[in-house]
Amino acid sequence: MKKKILTIVLIISLLTIFGLILYDSVNNSLKVKTESTIDGQNITKEEYIYKEELLSLGYNSNIIKKIEEKISTINVKNYLLNKKYDYLEEFTSSPYFKIENIERYENYYKNNPSYTFDQVVLYVEIGLDYEFYTNVNTIEDYTSITTLVNKYNKLPEGATFDNLVTLEKPYSNTGKRKVREEMYEPLKQMIDDAKKEKLNLYVISAFRENSTQNYLFNNSKKKNGLDYALTYSAKPGHSEHELGLAIDFNTTQEKFKKTKEYAWLKDNSYKYGFVMRYPENKVFITGYGYEPWHYRYLGIEIATKMYLEDITYEEYLVKYKN
Ligand SMILES: [Zn+2]
Repeated sequence: MKKKILTIVLIISLLTIFGLILYDSVNNSLKVKTESTIDGQNITKEEYIYKEELLSLGYNSNIIKKIEEKISTINVKNYLLNKKYDYLEEFTSSPYFKIENIERYENYYKNNPSYTFDQVVLYVEIGLDYEFYTNVNTIEDYTSITTLVNKYNKLPEGATFDNLVTLEKPYSNTGKRKVREEMYEPLKQMIDDAKKEKLNLYVISAFRENSTQNYLFNNSKKKNGLDYALTYSAKPGHSEHELGLAIDFNTTQEKFKKTKEYAWLKDNSYKYGFVMRYPENKVFITGYGYEPWHYRYLGIEIATKMYLEDITYEEYLVKYKN
């Protein structure tokens, strides 16, 4: 009996020992495997090298850890090894952060210390660290209704649209204004629905030829000086009117903002896909003075988002398209 018990205890002990040995060896082999996998990808080695370089630039190990997590090794190599950026950590927290623009963020922040880091990133992504009408991009593919035309983005010379339609009276004052086909029906629907509220909306300017825009800009410059022309008219190629997707309602005088038509448009136009493009509180982003009469067609989805978030199209594109 005693022998039997001893044998059982011995077997249990042996099994336990074997079990422990087995567990340990499996554990060890996992560890080795993990380590060798990491070693196999030179990335770890490179990260280690960058760690030294980043330390010598003056970054502390906390920030280096974040750099390792958030920025790929190739981007660390390309953008971060030449100098130390004072607010790298803060800028990386912005959802719109792009490592290639880190230098621009730092410079823009130095010139605009009252902005938050998020604002700095957003505004630089819009391009606001460049003077208006500098760093201009010529839009190659301009036929979409979502084409951005502003002081940094212009239409190519000779841009044409094959789907312009005539907006008849009483929707337009002359009965001859032209608009892009995509917005013809929504525009008429909006004007009709406004009429049901006893409001009188009509279009006084829509599509403009490049030559017309050129004439308007030069005329404004002659009459009111270059600064005025730059604020209230667009240089040729830079006007949304040349896209055929912008309209001016009723009058281009600021008194329009005191009308019932304006009050209705402001809160209803998005339902038809239109946005007031140059609001009073966003002049520094759009580069245009307040134009309560100027509306842009972008489709219901985009217009609704912009209305609900009170953002310009420039902000919308950085937030949702980049
Ligand atoms: Zn306009």
